[in-house]
Amino acid sequence: MRDVSLNFLRTLVNTPSPVGHEVRGQRVWLDYAKQYADETFSDAYGNCVAVLNKGGSPRLMLAAHADEIAMAVNFITDDGYIYVRKMGGIDAAITKAQRVIIHAREGAVKGVVGNVAPHLMKEEKEHKPPKIYEIFVDIGVNSRKDAEKVVRIGDPITLSDEFDLLRNDLAVARAFDNRIGTFAVAEALRLLHSAGRDKTKLQAEVCAVSNVQDEIGLLGARQIAYSLKPDIALVVDVTHATDYPTVNKPQHGDVRIGKGPTLTHGGMEYGAAYIAAQRFGAAEVVSAVNHAVGSIKETYKKYPNSRKVLPAMGYGPKQIRELEETIDATPCDLVLSGTPIDLSRVLKTKKPVVHVRYELDEIGHPNLEDVLRDWSFI
Ligand SMILES: [Zn+2]
Repeated sequence: MRDVSLNFLRTLVNTPSPVGHEVRGQRVWLDYAKQYADETFSDAYGNCVAVLNKGGSPRLMLAAHADEIAMAVNFITDDGYIYVRKMGGIDAAITKAQRVIIHAREGAVKGVVGNVAPHLMKEEKEHKPPKIYEIFVDIGVNSRKDAEKVVRIGDPITLSDEFDLLRNDLAVARAFDNRIGTFAVAEALRLLHSAGRDKTKLQAEVCAVSNVQDEIGLLGARQIAYSLKPDIALVVDVTHATDYPTVNKPQHGDVRIGKGPTLTHGGMEYGAAYIAAQRFGAAEVVSAVNHAVGSIKETYKKYPNSRKVLPAMGYGPKQIRELEETIDATPCDLVLSGTPIDLSRVLKTKKPVVHVRYELDEIGHPNLEDVLRDWSFI
């Protein structure tokens, strides 16, 4: 990796960015990303955006979340011990006996999470994982009064681990979820920026986003997607590798560290059948939304964006019956089915059902293989 990039990653990861308190981390990200952007801005929530090739088309959003899971000061005992609550899905078990930093108004306050020695524990408690409300932090004071001089209820707390290289390109750090994502997004912007000097290469407008408040309900990503209205969104986050002992691969898949990214695609408003209808000259695509029954009707209510297609919710007897009734009630001449199975084999309707299939085709260079080779994954 380039030294400059590695230093950026190190600074980014070492800058605490607890959910809801991302400002310092966002500054680090924006300082780096702005070198490769035509324009940068942040919104009222703290989401940061760096735009390259403004006015290009389509508008591509590359997004990752800047916040990390953390804890917060919840209660201070008369003896000055600090009890905590969760900010995001932190695992109470891994915080035991760790050093922490409380991000207080006047600056960082060091602490250590108490861990009772096994000799002092009652036997039945021995192997139970701790609950978050059992975790307490010692900041080295003797009274609540002294504790309240330096920390306040609500102050965020992070573990004080820092970035370290193990061997080669393998690194450990606190909360790679998801600064490795915001790093990847900023690096993608840098590479596009250097490739895009020859303007014929980059046609899209690229908006690199470091968004806030993911760990408490995907809030930032939603806010920024509404304001940017991208044509395409590529969201980068971490996943769990499964190439180490104790993980059940049949259940969680085969994900190996260093073997490249995993891909998950989100919901689309329509699929292959809709595209086929347009491409092969359908006079009209008829929506079934006003003719739907049962679970299909419910699905339209829940997902109004899916009105262009007829959602098949499964192939149990009841679901098949609801599909048949909905199709028969909808004033169309033909049903194009883009489902994985050939629906005409299980449905009895008055309308002809034609099954549509698709295959992926690479339309030129750079293709996926070129990109993976560029990044030395293969
Ligand atoms: Zn994440």
